[in-house]
This record gives sequence, structure tokens and C-alpha cells, in this order.
Amino acid sequence: MVSDTMFKLSEPNISENAIAAVVDVLRSGNLVHGKECESFEHALKDYLGCADVVLVSSGTAALHLSLVALGIGTGDAVLVPDFTFPATANVVKLVGATPVIIDVDQSNYCIDLMLLEQRIKEWSGPEKLRAIMPVHEFGYPVDMTVMKALAHQYGLLLIEDAACALGADHQGQKVGTFGSAGCFSFHPRKTLTTGEGGAIACQDPALASRLRLLRNHGMKRSVSGMLFSEPGFNYRLTNFQAALGLAQLPLLDQWISARRALAKVYMNELADLEGLVYLPSWHDGHSWQTFMIRLADHLQRSRIVESLKSVGYEVNLGAQSLTHIGIYGVTSGNECGARLYTHGLALPFCERYDSQLAKNVAAQLKLLLASNQ
Ligand SMILES: *Cc1c(COP(=O)(O)O)cnc(C)c1O
Repeated sequence: MVSDTMFKLSEPNISENAIAAVVDVLRSGNLVHGKECESFEHALKDYLGCADVVLVSSGTAALHLSLVALGIGTGDAVLVPDFTFPATANVVKLVGATPVIIDVDQSNYCIDLMLLEQRIKEWSGPEKLRAIMPVHEFGYPVDMTVMKALAHQYGLLLIEDAACALGADHQGQKVGTFGSAGCFSFHPRKTLTTGEGGAIACQDPALASRLRLLRNHGMKRSVSGMLFSEPGFNYRLTNFQAALGLAQLPLLDQWISARRALAKVYMNELADLEGLVYLPSWHDGHSWQTFMIRLADHLQRSRIVESLKSVGYEVNLGAQSLTHIGIYGVTSGNECGARLYTHGLALPFCERYDSQLAKNVAAQLKLLLASNQ
């Protein structure tokens, strides 16, 4: 039996208001590099509480541009977590540097801080360790107090992959504002979307102007015309995308509150499945882009995915294991990341879903697991 209505993993939340703002831009004829982009940069800067924000065309562009602007390249190494979206490591490879993959904490899905420090201490090259790129996975805020101390102690740069964590905070400070650069994504799977899109939060005005230069072909305008000072990219966002983001940003905190409440419902409903499913760590600053549980090792995820689909709930794996992908030179170790990759189960989750949906999903999962024994 296949259910008529399918509750998807998540749904973008685009108001009529936001649609009207996009249409206005389309009618204006000014499609790129305009006042909507500037306003969205300002609004994000105020929301995050940082010195500057540079909009770019995607989360991946944000990560790539940050590495390039910070001068990371051939001969360098960057520490990344095993469990993430591959873009985190791809950009390191693409600038000619080596990703050093650290296992994650099984319950919060983020880089394991003990293993991270151990790897830094034991580092003997041949590459030069230059940066840590922590990922605030699914919106869980990495302990940035510890992270900053580590970066400082060992003279490393901090580039935050906050692609799925806009609005998450560590001790009241928004994630993405602790490092030299904080990278965000506005892909439709994130809480706030502009279709494709991204942003870099930064503190240093010199870095911000370098990011702006590299985002736009390395081009400067002068009285004598265009000046190309160095090779750059076209990583700009359009005005209609910025208008979309600008219309949604005032709603973000409300959406995150609704997500926290929904996560709590799932946590309560699934609490008695001890030994069959493992719940994610609770953190008050979590922005809950995704709600992912981990199935016990003996359970087969594909059967559960199919069964839930047949009763109308789209569930899926949460993220990848870089080790498992095997294109980064490391193919073993990192057991926690591998287990989250093979046994993670992301449940239908977004601010548009109510507690009854979470209760229904949990009830279906319980039925399945009871017959699975
Ligand atoms: C989504 C995501 C990215 C990539 O963002 P895009 O906008 O799709 O390029 C990178 N890192 C993490 C952790 C993500 O969740």
C-alpha cells in the first residue's frame, strides 16, 4: 500500500509576501548586484551580530571563497569532521590542500574535540596544518569556547561550516561568528532558503573586502573603468534571491522555536525505544535543521526507509561519512561517522509540521521496530 499524501523530509517555507518581493525585483529589471543584496547583507549582519557579511551563490561557494581568501592551498592541511556533507572536504581538495578527517561524537554528530586535539598534537606533516573547519551539523552548535582555545593554542585558523546552522548559538553568540569566516547555505534543505545561495560572516574588514573582490571576478571599479587586480570567481547572489532571503529572515527565530518544540515531541515520543534507536543530544542553542536519530547496529535502515515511505513518511539518511566516500585518501577508521552514515535516520521535520505528525511518525516507527525484533 502506498499512501496518497507523502510528508516529505522537509518543505521550504515561502510566504506570499516573499513571492511578491521576488516578483517586484523581476519587474524592476535590476537582477544582480543591487540594493536587495546590500540590504540582505546588512540584515544578516545584524541578526548574527558580526562585523560583516558577504553574500555568495551557495554554501559551497562560501567555503571555497573563504579558503582561497585566507590563502589556504597546496602544502596545507585542514581538519574536518568525518560526518558532514561532502562539500566540506571537496573545497579543501579543490584548493590543493589535504582534508584531515576526524571522527565525530556519536550523540551530537559533530567533530570529536578530544580526537581533534590528539591529532593536532601528533601532527608531523608533511603538510602544514593551517585550519580547523568544524561543522555545526544539523544546527548543533560545536563548543566554540574549546574550539577557539585549540585554534589559538596551536596557531590555526578557524573556518566554521555553519551551512545548516543559521540561528544556532553557543552561549548566546551565534555560530558562524567565532572563526575568521563563518559559512552559511540557503539551499532548500536549510531552514531559510533562497533556492541556491550562501553567505560568509567575518570580523576582519580586510578579509571582507578580499572576499568581495574574489566573489566578483577580482574586479575593482575605478574612474578609468574596470580594473582586474587578480583572478576571481563569479560567486554573486542575484537580487531576487536576496529579496527572498530578506523577506524570510524576520521569521527565522519563530521557525527555530517551532523546530525546537517539534524536536522535543520526537524526543519524548521516542524515549522508550532504548536499545533500538539512539536520540541526538539536546542543546538549548540547537537550531534543528534536521532531526536525525541513529538506529541500533542490528537494524537494517533500507527496510525501515521503505516501510515508512509506504505509509506516507519520507525518511532518509542524514549525511555522509567522508571516510566511507573514499575519495579523500582515507578509507578506514572513524567508526562513529561511519555508523551515523549507515544507521542515521532523518525524520520528517520542519516548522510547518505539527506535533501530531511527529507523534504519528514515532508511532509508525515503534510498530515497525516491534515487528522487527
Ligand atoms: C548544505 C551544506 C553544504 C553545502 O551548501 P550548498 O549551499 O548546497 O552548496 C556544506 N556543508 C554542510 C554541512 C551543509 O549542510
